[in-house]
Order: sequence, then C-alpha cells, then structure tokens
Amino acid sequence: MADVKLTHVKKIYSNKVEVLRDINLDIKQGEFIVFVGPSGCGKSTLLRMISGLEEISGGTLEIDGQVVNDIPPALRGIAMVFQSYALYPHMTVYDNMAFSLQIAKVSKADIDTQVRKAAEMLQLTPYLDRLPKALSGGQRQRVAIGRAIVRRPKVFLFDEPLSNLDAALRVATRMEIANLKESMPDSTMIYVTHDQVEAMTLADRIVLLSAGNIEQVGSPLELYENPANVFVAKFIGSPAMNIVPCQIAQTGEQTKVTVADNSVQTAVNTAASEQGKPGFFGIRPEDLHVADSEEQGFLSGKVFFVESLGESTLLYVKVPGCEELVIAKLIGTLPTQRGDLVHLTADAQKMHLFDENELAYGR
Ligand code: ADP
Repeated sequence: MADVKLTHVKKIYSNKVEVLRDINLDIKQGEFIVFVGPSGCGKSTLLRMISGLEEISGGTLEIDGQVVNDIPPALRGIAMVFQSYALYPHMTVYDNMAFSLQIAKVSKADIDTQVRKAAEMLQLTPYLDRLPKALSGGQRQRVAIGRAIVRRPKVFLFDEPLSNLDAALRVATRMEIANLKESMPDSTMIYVTHDQVEAMTLADRIVLLSAGNIEQVGSPLELYENPANVFVAKFIGSPAMNIVPCQIAQTGEQTKVTVADNSVQTAVNTAASEQGKPGFFGIRPEDLHVADSEEQGFLSGKVFFVESLGESTLLYVKVPGCEELVIAKLIGTLPTQRGDLVHLTADAQKMHLFDENELAYGR
C-alpha cells in the first residue's frame, strides 16, 4: 500500500536505443493505473523497471517515499502477475498460493488464514485441492493473482494478465480484477495492456504511451472526451475517432472549419486567423448523423462499405480530400447501400480540432 513516483526515468538497453525517454509519473496509494499503448511502446519495460526485473538507466523510482533504484525485486514490496500464469504444476492450488509464505517462514496458521481469505476473494475456495491442470485458463490466472495477494504487497503489478485467455474468459476475469480492486481499495495496482477496452474499464487513470513517451495521463473519460493530440484521439475509442484534414479560420468567437468545399461552425477557440490555416477536424463515429439534405451536410461522400451490426450500422464513407474512410456509427439498421451518396452532420458539442502538429486546440 504505497505511492509510486517516477522522476525523469529513462531506459536504454545495451543496444543503446532509448526505449523510454523522460517518464514522470505520480501514482497515489490505492490508485488503479493502466499503462496502455501499441506494441513496442515501452509499457512492459516500464513495469519491469518498477518491479526491479529491469535496471533503471536514469532518473529515480520511489516506492512509499523511498528511492528503490538499487533495491532488489524481493525487497521492494511488490508482487507481479504475468501473462503466463507460471503455476507449479505438481502443487495444488492451496500450495501454489501458500508457497511464497512458506519460504518466508510465515506460521502455518497465518498461511492458512491468508490463503483462505484470498481464495474466498477470488472464488477459488472449491478448487483449493486441485492441481492447476484441472482448472480453466481463467481459474489458473486467478490462482496466479491469489499468489500475489497472499504476500500482501505494497504494489500489485499486472503484465497483460488476460492476453492468454479467450474472449469470454477475458471479460469474466476482467470483472474479477475489477472486483479485486473494489475489495482492496488501499492497494496500489499498476496494470499493463495493449487493449484500450481493458484500460477504459479498469483504470482510475490511464497512462497512454507511444514510442517511449507519455502522450497523456488522465481518467478514461478525460482521455475519451479531451484527447491531447491526434494519437490519443485515435487510440481511445472503437471504431477510432475520424480525423479529417481541414482548414481552420476564426472570426471573433466563431471558428469555421472547412473540409473540401463544405464548412461548419464550431465553438472551439483556436486563435486561428481569419485567413485560416491547416489543421485536423476530429469527430467520433457515434457523433455523426445522416443529414436530410446536402445543405445540412458537412462531410459528404460515397458509401464505400456498410457493416450492419444489428443494433447499429457502420457506414464507411469516402470523403473527398480525406485519405482515410470516414466512419459513421448510426443507430439501428439503414437502407443505405454501397455507392450511395450521403451527407453527414456532426454534433457541434462533440467536435475536436487539432493544429498542424496534431495537438488539440481548446485544452
Ligand atoms: P511493450 O510492452 O509496449 O510492447 P516493450 O517494453 O516490451 O514494449 O519494448 C519496448 C522497446 O524496447 C521495443 O522496441 C523492444 O524491442 C525493446 N526491447 C525490449 N526488451 C529489450 C531488450 N532486452 N533488449 C533490447 N531491446 C529491448
């Protein structure tokens, strides 16, 4: 149960490539923090540095106010849950969970209390006498989590714990982890995933990384509603936010956005000139609607592809001047077909504007 603080932390592997640049992060006791980002962005490296499995090349790491850069993993008060559960195959669930406490010479009675408490929390009580091979993947991962819990660590680290499970088990085990967080509100948890849905559903705060840098830190809804830049806008949310190159001009309070020959007014303050300058218009697929007429439309183009999902329909529209297809997510089923011309309007309150360098205006 502790704060974790990273100050100017960087990582250079022996091949001299700087894979983490200047990481500054203040994690408070009891927070559930998710490191998320595309493969290779450095999230596992960051987690492994906190655990002590990987050396820190620069900067300081503090746990509970103490600099731990040179403290070995076993003495840092952390417990890590890996992607592969790494259970001892010849030991029962009970013994797998008890093992680290036996090594630490904890009394039999205390071990029993801890193991049974963790088993109860993870709904593993009926399985305590089983061997790992007689468990499902999700149950095995819960045993791995139980093994971490019994040690009562200051900080829990999870390295993609759900990525070996199939889709249904992933959802169920994700809920177990959310429950765990509820039942251990004082425990600090740091969780790595490449899956933005896991990040959105579990995190108190998300740390979104790309290429060794932190792009944004904030609550899931902060990142969803106020992305700091185009990268964050496209990473959080599925289907991703549409990003359309545009011209942005401001007259007084009003900002005019122009895509191809169509213009729309927004209330975002861009401090752009009246002549206008290039930038990017962002709108989420669910914030686009089909207009009744061409005049009311803002993004117009031919439908390239229709996906009917039952409760909603995705239209992929080829808008002139925009390389990527614009996606509109519309409620229900539609008669629209490939090749139809559609005119889309956007909710004024939901528009995002980014400058030439892909940084958000109005933040
Ligand atoms: P992620 O977990 O986000 O997929 P990693 O932290 O595993 O990313 O890797 C970040 C970068 O560091 C990648 O470019 C990866 O190739 C590199 N890397 C990871 N481990 C090592 C290592 N032991 N030696 C050299 N480069 C490494």
